[in-house]
Amino acid sequence: MDSIRVVIAGATGRMGQEAVKLVQREENMILAGAVSRSRIGEDVGESVGIGSVGIALTDSLEDALVQSRPDVLVDFTTPEVVYRNTELAIQYGVRPVVGATGLSQGEIHELEAMCWDRGIGGVIAPNFAIGAVLMMNFASRAAKYLPHVEIIEMHHDRKLDAPSGTALKTAELISREREEMKQGQPDEKETLEGARGGYKDGFRVHSVRLPGLVAHQEVLFGGPGQLLTLRHDSMNRESFMPGVKLAAEKVMTLDHLVYGLEKILDE
Ligand code: NAP
Repeated sequence: MDSIRVVIAGATGRMGQEAVKLVQREENMILAGAVSRSRIGEDVGESVGIGSVGIALTDSLEDALVQSRPDVLVDFTTPEVVYRNTELAIQYGVRPVVGATGLSQGEIHELEAMCWDRGIGGVIAPNFAIGAVLMMNFASRAAKYLPHVEIIEMHHDRKLDAPSGTALKTAELISREREEMKQGQPDEKETLEGARGGYKDGFRVHSVRLPGLVAHQEVLFGGPGQLLTLRHDSMNRESFMPGVKLAAEKVMTLDHLVYGLEKILDE
């Protein structure tokens, strides 16, 4: 297979920098362009600390798409620009691999329709950590047989939302597999507000925020005489890159857009 030509939007951000390093080190990928708001004109390799790679940062995604004619756009920007970037890529027949979060359901449906019209593949994944996606999958399977469950997610203390998107998604998958059932002692009283965590269809979701943490989650299932614990830890942003690579390869063979990394894991 020919090498996959990749443009990265948000290339100077924390995730974008990892994506630049990924594309540079993978033999089947070529960095075709790098888009950013800052450090325009600078060699992107210099700005991510891997030495010159011969690609200058530009602030125009359209110029990058027109000039470098990539196969794939990897987007790790922000909720404000991700929709427009993805739409633009599809208009140019460039397959989107979207990691930036914040797209609404409506926007995702519109982007799906655009990919259908163009007959091109795309992946939007709120979590590119393959281990986290597997954890959600296993949790959903376990909930069928061990319906008593609690989720504890742990993140760095700069995180704005609680619970995390991954915890919410895990909770939704679990809810699909079990009847709504209030767990614990029916007469339970909280003597400290919030001590039992957030309530989701009868079970509890707890959020821990501390410096030193990155992104971690445990799903605990309890049954008579047994406890099953699923745990996933993202130690750093590199943990997301195998998922990005998988998606960039997969979009080359798809003719439509998929939402969620789990959709391409077993295909
Ligand atoms: P970040 O460090 O703030 O990087 C954001 C990037 O977007 C930077 O390159 C920034 O440019 C650029 N940007 C910001 N506003 C822009 C605008 N108005 N126009 C054009 N470019 C703009 O954020 P991050 O931690 O890398 O996260 C990026 C996104 O990925 C977020 O949505 C985050 O939730 C998501 N994320 C996804 C996953 C996943 O697995 N899918 C994992 C982690 C994070 P400057 O550098 O010039 O400011």
